[in-house]
Order: sequence, then C-alpha cells, then structure tokens
Amino acid sequence: MSHIKGIGASAGIAVAKAFVMETPSFDIPTNKIEDVAAEKARFQAAIAQSKTELEEIRQITLRELGEDKAEIFSAHLLIVEDPEIVSQVNDKIESEHMNAAKALDEVAQMMVTIFESMDNEYMRERAADVRDVTKRVMAHILGVTFMTPASISEEVIIIAEDLTPSDTAQLNRKYVKGFATNIGGRTSHSAIMSRSLEIPAVVGTKVALEEIKNGDLVVIDGTEGDVFVNPSEELVNEYNEKRAAFEAYKEELKQLVNEESITADGHKVKLAANIGTPNDLEGVLKNGADAIGLYRTEFLYMDSETFPTEEEQYTAYKAVIEGMDGKQVVIRTLDIGGDKELSYLDLPKEMNPFLGYRAIRLCLEETDLFRTQLRALLRASAHGDLAIMFPMIATLEEFRAAKAILLEEEAKLKTEGIAVGNYETGMMVEIPSTAVMAKQFAKEVDFFSVGTNDLIQYTMAADRMNEKVSYLYQPFNPAILNLLHNVITEAHKAGKWVGMCGEMAGEELAIPILLGLGLDEFSMSASSVLRARSLVKRLTKSETEAIVNDVLNMDTAEEVVNFLSEKFDIKK
Ligand code: PEP
Ligand code: MG
Repeated sequence: MSHIKGIGASAGIAVAKAFVMETPSFDIPTNKIEDVAAEKARFQAAIAQSKTELEEIRQITLRELGEDKAEIFSAHLLIVEDPEIVSQVNDKIESEHMNAAKALDEVAQMMVTIFESMDNEYMRERAADVRDVTKRVMAHILGVTFMTPASISEEVIIIAEDLTPSDTAQLNRKYVKGFATNIGGRTSHSAIMSRSLEIPAVVGTKVALEEIKNGDLVVIDGTEGDVFVNPSEELVNEYNEKRAAFEAYKEELKQLVNEESITADGHKVKLAANIGTPNDLEGVLKNGADAIGLYRTEFLYMDSETFPTEEEQYTAYKAVIEGMDGKQVVIRTLDIGGDKELSYLDLPKEMNPFLGYRAIRLCLEETDLFRTQLRALLRASAHGDLAIMFPMIATLEEFRAAKAILLEEEAKLKTEGIAVGNYETGMMVEIPSTAVMAKQFAKEVDFFSVGTNDLIQYTMAADRMNEKVSYLYQPFNPAILNLLHNVITEAHKAGKWVGMCGEMAGEELAIPILLGLGLDEFSMSASSVLRARSLVKRLTKSETEAIVNDVLNMDTAEEVVNFLSEKFDIKK
C-alpha cells in the first residue's frame, strides 16, 4: 500500500479502481516505409477502431448525459472518415512512402492551420474537432492508450494530471466516484466542479499520475486530502465506515433544508450557492440555498461547439431564474481566459494568461459577443429576481463602460417592445485595486461580490493553480481580511450589499470572521450550504463582531487561523 498526500478539494470518501487518464504524448516516427499496402491497411485499421470507440462513446453520452453532449461525438464520427483527410494521408503513403503516423500528422496540422485561419466561426470550430479526432486515430496507429472521461462505463476513480473544464463536463456521476489530480488547488476549476457534482476529490498530489496504475484499488478521502493505493482490507473497511459516517452526517444536515439562515442572536444572512449550468439547480434546491450568488456562465460557452446564441442563453438563464422561484440569482457575464479556454475562440498565447486578455477585458473589446449575452440576460430579468455581475473589473472606467453597454441594450430591447424586468448591476471584487478603491466603486454599483479565489492570488502574487506556491495562498492573511473589511465597510456606508462567491465563503473557519466583518451573502458550492447553516445557527453576530478588531491587527495568517479555530471550536 502507498499513501499520497494532496489537497482535499471535495469532501467525502470513495473506494474504487483507478482509471488513469494520461494525456498521450506522441513520438512521431520519421522513417520511410516499403510496404505501401500494409501501411494503408494500418491507417485504415486505426480509423475503424476510432470509429467503433466514438460510436460507443456517443451511445453512452446519449444515454447518460443527453442529446446535447452526444452531438459532439456525432460531429467527430463525420471527421474520422472525412474523405479529404483520408485520401490525402493515403496519397502521402503512396507517393512519398511516408509512414502513416507522419502522414496523418502532416495532413492534420495542415487542416488545423487552414481551419484556424478562416474568418468563419463554424470553420474555426472544426479545427478543434480535427485535432481531437486525429489524436485518437494517431494513438491507434502508434499503439498509445487514449482515454476521455466519456468512455468510462464502470465505477472508477479518475487519476489525471488535471481535468479540464470540458473533461469535467463529460463526467458521469454514476461511474466516476472520485478523482485525484497531480496539480491544482482548492480553487482550481476541477476542484470547484467536483464540489458542485458532489464527487470526492483530492488535487495537487504531485505524483498520483506517476504512482497509480490503471486498475489499482484506490481510496480517496476528499476531506483530508488522502489517497491510498492498493490498501489493506483493514483500511478499506475503515474507510467504508468513515464513508457511512459521512453519509449519515449529510442525512442529518438535511433537517436544515427549510430552515432560515439565522444566527443564535437573530441576525439573518443569505447562504447562497454557486452554479455552473442549469443542471446544478437540482443541487441548489436540494440543499435549500437562499439564493444563487454566482452563476458562472462560461460553462455555457465551454460546453458548446460555437458561441451560444441569444436564444440559447436566454433559455438557460430563464430556466435558472424561474427554477429559483423568486429567490435572487446573480449571473456573471462571460469570464473566459485564465485557465478557461474556448476551443472556438482563438486567444493569443500569453506569458501570464491570468493577468492577460480575459473576462471583462475581452468582452469590452469583442462587444458583439458581450451584447448578445447582455440581451439574453435582460430578457431573462423579466422572469424573476436577477442581478447581473461583471467579472475582473480593475478600474471604474471598465465598470462604467460595461454598464453603458448594458443600458444601451436595455433601451434597444424596450424600443423593440421586449420586456425587461428590474435587475441589479454589480461587480466582482477580485482585483486588489477595486478592494482598495471600494469607496469610489460603491457609489456606482448596486452590490459587490468578492471573488476571493482570484483576490487572494492577485494580492499574494501566488498562482491559484500552482501547488508549489500554495503555502502563499492564504485566505486568512491579515492583508486579505483588511481588504475585505474595507470593501464591506465602504459598501455599507453607501447602502450597498456585499456577497462573497469565492471558495472562502464556504470555509467553516472563515464564516465567523466574515460574519463579524458584516458580509451579507455567502455563496458557496451547494453541497456546503447546510454545513454552513448549521454553523451560522450556533454563532452569535455579537461574538463574531467582538473579535474583528483583534483579528485585523494580527501579524500572520497562522495566528488568525489558530485564534479562530480555538475561539469558535472549528477544525483548522
Ligand atoms: C473568484 O475569483 O473568486 C471567483 C468566484 O471566480 P472564478 O473562481 O470563476 O475565477
Ligand atoms: Mg475569478
């Protein structure tokens, strides 16, 4: 048995066989071949094998995840036998005696380059498909294993370097019992998704991919960040008991589903949920969240093969707003860039994507894309309580520019006779400049929502994805707490409310100090809401307020953590 330590990303315990998902690296041979017929047959066999797999994956996806997601694989099935690609590869084998792998590589690269340089969005989108499909065929030519989460049809724990958002979109909870990754931290997107899917996960293990083989028996403890490989029967039994206890605790919390989020001394707060797609609504309702504090709309774009239309977006936003039945829904406009890419949007390669061309910066440049989303949001506002929120605002000019475009679209809709409801307009506070300048921003926004995932990484200059510097990623650093204090104080002076939708809002140890600072809304993974409610009910607002001054004047994060843990009897 071996024990690997990582970062607990999503609570719970899983015991299952490992499904190792390696990104294949291809060593393309350059040798010439003699036997043309045999080489062509090798190529043909790789195509046939890929086709069988794609058909199977399409069937599984259709059955488990629906028509929408299955369509991706219908498109891939067309490409795998594309006559243009097949004939060009055969030509190279025949006339240049090129080996099949090299021939496919050259043809695929040429196709991708042509498609990518086209102005037409539809064609650009084909480039990503060609890349995906040829990778699969190439793997078969070279005899390299190629795996995607969509091909899983038995209970497993996924072991991977990291899971991309599109990998996680294909995860089927029925089969995927948990995952462990080499990289990432609690706020990387795979970690956030694992919590919304309620799949136990351990991230940032550094070595899981190297140390675990396909089919090894694996136990993961997503609460403590432990991974055990080929454990003893005794340990498996112990963890099965722990799993039962965890499930029992979750059952017990269910009693709080319809209760108010109110402290022991009668102060009400909002415990809201973060979602990525309308499908997450089920978890939000099941866990009795008071609102949706963050709807990350980028998943709507990432799950699609091309930009979602106004109508598609309107349908998704309306479904969420109506599903919440009068409770507030905060929808964030497109926050693409950083670790979130769109296969059909060619973004320039950057040295520092997290500091680069992303989110509102991109939307203010690509205004057609932005306007389409704003129109969909404004139309959806007629169906309930909507708040629109702009991500990654750094300056007041950006907020004003985004709001001006929003108001223009509202005016246009009204002249078209299309209904627009009442809505609030706010912004994320995730860049330190805005936390420092909260007083000025507070005059112009309806609300703030603090994105601590980014605010911490930008304040501490510590990449949220990089486990090497994760020791600097300190939610409890007095620097962060003082920024939060400023944001909340200035917002309240201007009569505005403040939410927090970064992962810190759901951390038990953070809740007392955030409550003391006056945070109005805590937005977290739906699966954390009931635990947070149970804690809020045993705290008093007055005792949390009494410690604020001391905490803000502490010297280190460690000091704050120790103090809070002891004072409120919460595990570190
Ligand atoms: C944040 O930065 O805290 C946040 C909620 O946004 P995201 O995690 O999507 O970057
Ligand atoms: Mg962010």
